[in-house]
Amino acid sequence: MPEGPEVETIRRGLARVALDRRITACRSDSSRVFHGAAATEALAQVLVGASIHSLGRHGKFLLADLARDGEVSGAVLILHMGMSGQLRSSALSGTSAAADKHAHLVLCFEDGSDVSFIDPRMFGRVELGVRPGPGELPASLAHLGPDAIGAPDPLARLGERARRSSVAIKTLLLDQTLVAGIGNMYADEMLHRARLLPRRPASTLGAPEMARLGSACREVLAEAVELGGSSLADRTYRDISGELGSFQTKHRVYGREGEPCLECGEPVRREVFGGRSSHYCPRCQS
Ligand SMILES: [Zn+2]
Repeated sequence: MPEGPEVETIRRGLARVALDRRITACRSDSSRVFHGAAATEALAQVLVGASIHSLGRHGKFLLADLARDGEVSGAVLILHMGMSGQLRSSALSGTSAAADKHAHLVLCFEDGSDVSFIDPRMFGRVELGVRPGPGELPASLAHLGPDAIGAPDPLARLGERARRSSVAIKTLLLDQTLVAGIGNMYADEMLHRARLLPRRPASTLGAPEMARLGSACREVLAEAVELGGSSLADRTYRDISGELGSFQTKHRVYGREGEPCLECGEPVRREVFGGRSSHYCPRCQS
């Protein structure tokens, strides 16, 4: 599932091919990825003739701010990749993916190129929103916590909650209302780097441990963005050119059950709790 670093990689690729180019046509189907007004003809009315003025990201959401005749309208196209969503640009990958049977939304640009939103499992999301003010999130995203990659202190809200919460620290890292953009994979990686067990009750973390977690969060996500995100064995994550990411080669615990911990050699363990697999080193993490 694409997490913050994967969506940031997609955002950077999309910016190369779509910024300030007029959308000349838009094709969408009636699949469940479309929500609210995006599920109606309003989607084409909003998009055709508009251009993407700027491209933002908050957590795992991509936000394309639209302009019409050079005027920023406040309208935003919001995309979430869900479990298996991808964007593919004909200009960067060399061929159009518009005919792919899983292409639910295709945007055609004035230069003849197109960008397709492909999502075989259809857990992704396409919606329209409006920014209440410059830089403010549309109402449907207002519940999200600070962005894990871009916020100056991404774990500030999580730290507040952690003090009075006995739930596992990993569960808090995955709570998008506390910090947005971290999923199962990067939570495991940052907890190993911070030498904290995923199951550790949040309220038992002292200030130095929270500081370690904050540093691990910044480091892991920055390195993952640098390497274009992580593509796992199923290869469902690819960037907008169709290329795989390479941060998976740097994973210390995620997907490495039974393999030696890179720090101490102890076999990495996998444990299921909260409906998810957690990977950790029983010697390095406590
Ligand atoms: Zn270890």
